[in-house]
Amino acid sequence: MIIAIDGPAASGKSTSAKLLAEKLNFLYLDTGAMYRCIALSIIENEIDIKNESSVKKFISNFKLELKTVDGAPDFLVNGSSVSKKIRTAAISKKVSAISAIPAVREYMVGLQRSFAKNNNCVVEGRDIGTVVFPDAEIKFFIIASVKIRAERRKLELQNIGETISLTELQKDIKARDKYDSERSHSPLKKAINAIQVDTTEMTIDEQVNYMIRNVNLKK
Ligand code: C5P
Repeated sequence: MIIAIDGPAASGKSTSAKLLAEKLNFLYLDTGAMYRCIALSIIENEIDIKNESSVKKFISNFKLELKTVDGAPDFLVNGSSVSKKIRTAAISKKVSAISAIPAVREYMVGLQRSFAKNNNCVVEGRDIGTVVFPDAEIKFFIIASVKIRAERRKLELQNIGETISLTELQKDIKARDKYDSERSHSPLKKAINAIQVDTTEMTIDEQVNYMIRNVNLKK
């Protein structure tokens, strides 16, 4: 069974996807983390993203693995764990432009399908219910106000020692939403048959319980 969870940046997707996977004993696949991994590597290797053949050459040598360490997912790029490094504000700022490159998306979608193959899986991202798994048994589209999303992101960044103002975060989130929804390749959009969940005024428990109830109805 595939549970597809899409929605804009910091809407509460990851929190609910992680808990849902834990409660149902499903594999958790964070596709945003996968785009962050390739963004980090492209930046570190100073690849010119406007040069299609350099990007393609880079992808042909890029190896991304997903491991579970102490029950938590860990992404390895060419053998090294990058799960911490991909969460910085600097990566958040650049990831949308990199994830809009068609060759990057093609590579990632193939990998996402192979990671989920033969698994019960909660997959979260932007295009999961529309492009990656259009036949997912259940689809959610998670939204929340920009203000609350910036507040959530601020807390996440504080946990990794970064301080950024709420105004700056709101600006970044709006810019990322715009980029992700307006790109021509697999834009962020709600699948017709997705259940929309507005988490602005919901606690984490409320949102997860609501989703579990809907999953149980489908089982
Ligand atoms: O979910 P997260 O905010 O970590 O995603 C980082 C970025 O990766 C998004 O802003 C978007 O540009 C890209 N992304 C995507 N398609 C997905 C998941 C994420 O384009 N399925």
